[in-house]
Amino acid sequence: MNSTKQSLILVVDDNPNNIQILFQCLKTAGYKVLIAQTGESAINQAQKTLPDLILLDVMMPIMDGFETCRALKSSAETVNIPIIFMTVLNETFNKVKGFSLGAVDYITKPFVQEELLARVKLHLDLRNLTKTLEQQNESLKEEISARIEMGKQLQKFNQNLEQLVEKRTEELTQTLLELQTTQIQLLDREAQLKHDAFHDKLTGLINRDLFVNLLKQEMKTASVNSQYLYGVLFIDLDGFKIVNDSLGHLVGDDLLKVVSQRLKTCVRSSDAVARFGGDEFAILLRNLKELSLAEVIAQRILNTLNQPFYLNNYEVSVGASIGMTFNVFKYNQPSEILRDADIAMYQAKRQGKGCYKCFNPDMQALVFARIQLERDLNKAVENLENDELSQQFSLYYQPIVHLENQKINGFEALLRWQHPTEGWISPEKFIPIAEETKLINPLGWWILKQVCQQISYWLKQFPDHNTLTVNINVSAVQFQQENFIEQIGLIVQESRLPPGSLKLEITESYTLDTENYSLERLQKLKDMGIHLCIDDFGVGYSCLNRLQELPVDTLKIDRSFLKKLDHSNPNLQFIKSILMLASSLEIDVVAEGIETENQLQNLQKLGCLLGQGYLFSKPVNCDQATQFLEEKIVF
Ligand code: C2E
Ligand code: MG
Ligand code: MG
Repeated sequence: MNSTKQSLILVVDDNPNNIQILFQCLKTAGYKVLIAQTGESAINQAQKTLPDLILLDVMMPIMDGFETCRALKSSAETVNIPIIFMTVLNETFNKVKGFSLGAVDYITKPFVQEELLARVKLHLDLRNLTKTLEQQNESLKEEISARIEMGKQLQKFNQNLEQLVEKRTEELTQTLLELQTTQIQLLDREAQLKHDAFHDKLTGLINRDLFVNLLKQEMKTASVNSQYLYGVLFIDLDGFKIVNDSLGHLVGDDLLKVVSQRLKTCVRSSDAVARFGGDEFAILLRNLKELSLAEVIAQRILNTLNQPFYLNNYEVSVGASIGMTFNVFKYNQPSEILRDADIAMYQAKRQGKGCYKCFNPDMQALVFARIQLERDLNKAVENLENDELSQQFSLYYQPIVHLENQKINGFEALLRWQHPTEGWISPEKFIPIAEETKLINPLGWWILKQVCQQISYWLKQFPDHNTLTVNINVSAVQFQQENFIEQIGLIVQESRLPPGSLKLEITESYTLDTENYSLERLQKLKDMGIHLCIDDFGVGYSCLNRLQELPVDTLKIDRSFLKKLDHSNPNLQFIKSILMLASSLEIDVVAEGIETENQLQNLQKLGCLLGQGYLFSKPVNCDQATQFLEEKIVF
């Protein structure tokens, strides 16, 4: 380190000789030299020039070296300037005081030049070193504070990062939660869809698809275990349509729900109860110990369903027809089992309903017979317009009489079918088939034309019977044809009939259709002058007060009510109420199915004016009916 170059040394001494020597010596050694002769001047110069070193004489007048040193050390600008005291060798110099005031060294006069220069150099070097250290220290401090600052920023950054991570984690947790909820909802929905695909919505019972699957499993079990027995019951409600038509679909739905519950109580928990649609149910009886158990269950079902149902303030009764079959018949497909259970159920229906039948192979013959009958009916209807000689249909007429004098008031036209090989077939048997197959439509138009011709013939032939009316039965299927009203209008016009001589009989359930559509149609017919009659009145659950809305002229009390008149203590209340209401609405009442004198007398007592039944005459052919009119017969 070169301390001489550029270093500025302030020499303070009151003795000019000393100054001279020092100046000379220091200059020669290459230092810059400033001079002060008093303490005060030294302080001023030091503050102005900030020398690198001060050589300070101790003994000076006014302000001695110590004083000057104290002042320099108490000022911030000059505190760090190294001060070397100069003292005469013999002087008693208080070294301790000197050092305690901040001096770095002392030299004695007379000066030994080498010593002086060596000490000056040493302290200049020390001073420079200190400065360098101080500078390094400073930059270190700066670096430290920069680092601290950086640390703080890092900490802040970390904090922000932590907050961000925390926020993100929260968001993620929330998203995850939402995702889980959606997933649960999706799973629920999937489970619901799966459930819906195999269950009936209304009753919650399993549906046909699931039933068939279960049946397949039973078949598998039976295929590996020849002793394994299972059975299928096919159940169809009796009288459900009447409830549905007369009390409305909501009550119908409620009924189906309660029926489902009752069915479940009749079987074991291992069995399966299904609804196939409408009023059809099926039950799978698994692992039967013996076949007779199925009969016990079927009978239990019949008993349970026979109990009245209380729905919406109505007491409703339905029954059931049950068919059953078992794997003893070696089935290959579920459809075969269901087919045979259905056939057995159909037999139960045919045998008066409200019972169960076990399938036997002979039953299939009956089904084939029905299919054959359907074909034959189809052929017979096709033949209607063609060939009069091979005509299989004819119309019979049953007199409707005044109960007071038993004279003829009119007729009810009743269709007869003479099958080429089977003979007479009851309308009770073929009319439902004709309705199901819609063959009733062409057949109905044929009947209408025939009857209209016949009336017009009778009116011409027997002018005395000018108030004669003939009733024609019209089924609901016919009514639903689009051009029904226009077509009737045309036929009545063509046969030039007074429209009042024609009366259409419609069933109670049709008139109670909850939609106004049928009411409108009835009103149109009425406006055309055609008379209307409600047939089989009382078998549905019709409210009597609905009657006043209907544009009808007549109602026929169903045959089943006439039976009640035979008892010794007859229940006349229902007939009485009908008669009263009808008379207030100016509606005629015809009692249907009068077979005994007893019934006739009771009806007369009640004031019923018109009747029809075997007591007067069975339905007769056209010639006989003509004869009745001709003879003005009194029955
Ligand atoms: P319905 O319209 O209620 O006809 C009355 C049924 O009762 C007739 O049966 C008639 O022969 C029968 N009957 C009348 N008096 C007595 C009696 O004193 N005792 C008994 N036991 N029965 C009596 P039929 O002719 O067998 O007709 C049955 C049903 O077939 C009819 O019931 C009607 O719903 C339907 N039907 C008959 N002819 C036609 C038709 O031309 N068109 C339509 N759509 N249906 C018809
Ligand atoms: Mg009738
Ligand atoms: Mg009737």
